[in-house]
Amino acid sequence: MRPPVEGIPGVRQRVAGARAAGRSIALVPTMGALHAGHGALIDRARAECGFVAVSVFVNPTQFDRKDDYDRYPRKLDADLDFCGARGVDVVFAPEPGEMYPEPQRTYIEVAGVSERLCGEFRPGHFRGVATVVAKLFNIVSPDAAYFGEKDAQQLAVIQTMVRDLNMTVEIRHVPTVREADGLALSSRNQRLSAEERRAAPVLYKALQAAAERVRAGGDSAEARRAALDLIAREPLARVEYLEVVDSRSMLPVEQPAGAVRIAVAAWLGTTRLIDNVSCEPASV
Ligand code: AMP
Repeated sequence: MRPPVEGIPGVRQRVAGARAAGRSIALVPTMGALHAGHGALIDRARAECGFVAVSVFVNPTQFDRKDDYDRYPRKLDADLDFCGARGVDVVFAPEPGEMYPEPQRTYIEVAGVSERLCGEFRPGHFRGVATVVAKLFNIVSPDAAYFGEKDAQQLAVIQTMVRDLNMTVEIRHVPTVREADGLALSSRNQRLSAEERRAAPVLYKALQAAAERVRAGGDSAEARRAALDLIAREPLARVEYLEVVDSRSMLPVEQPAGAVRIAVAAWLGTTRLIDNVSCEPASV
């Protein structure tokens, strides 16, 4: 059965009712066009909390390009069936005018962790993400919120914001769900042509090659070279960045000594994909 779809007053009312009944509240923030990656977050929330809210909102303030915002897939009908099949209690699907009834004056900037990687290439992106997630937290007041490791920098930004601002919500993260050939599931994959789709798994293969170097004790330059060499053999892929960073600060690491993330952003035609893996040098 499809869950009810609510705006701000309705979702607040349902959450208040669930809380009064002693249920813990989960929030899974999404931009819709739901796939098995989102499904993993929802299933985890369903298993751990008494009441599960999923937000579906394509947030204009986190898009640095209007064409990307306009082209972003919107499939609320299918999303409601998807949520219904997973036992979601309410879908919060506001219109932009409900989230931003007036021009937004108050923004959250998370310094440092937002600066590199996607922060460097998508100006204002993480300011938009942190601000909308803070708004969602204030609207839903969840006990726990679920995020995917697929967007590792976003996860680090949210974790930092929650610590810095003494927010009480607990941030839980879920491993990346992949296609059989390794491509990380993403709503943007639908935009790939058949040829681009065939080429896309090179990103995960490159990350794995880099992770292997790190595990073997190699430095970041060597790991990056291994990955970039692989991608260079795929003419359809154009790398935007490929970095070895500290998992918490998201700042570059020259010689991995503990757990690091290797993150990539690349263009396949007009579609920008991101992916990352976590790894650490094997102890000797
Ligand atoms: P999005 O709708 O792309 O904004 O993603 C909503 C949430 O789902 C974010 O926390 C993402 O990290 C997470 N997510 C997206 N794709 C995947 C995936 N392939 N595996 C796990 N989580 C994902």
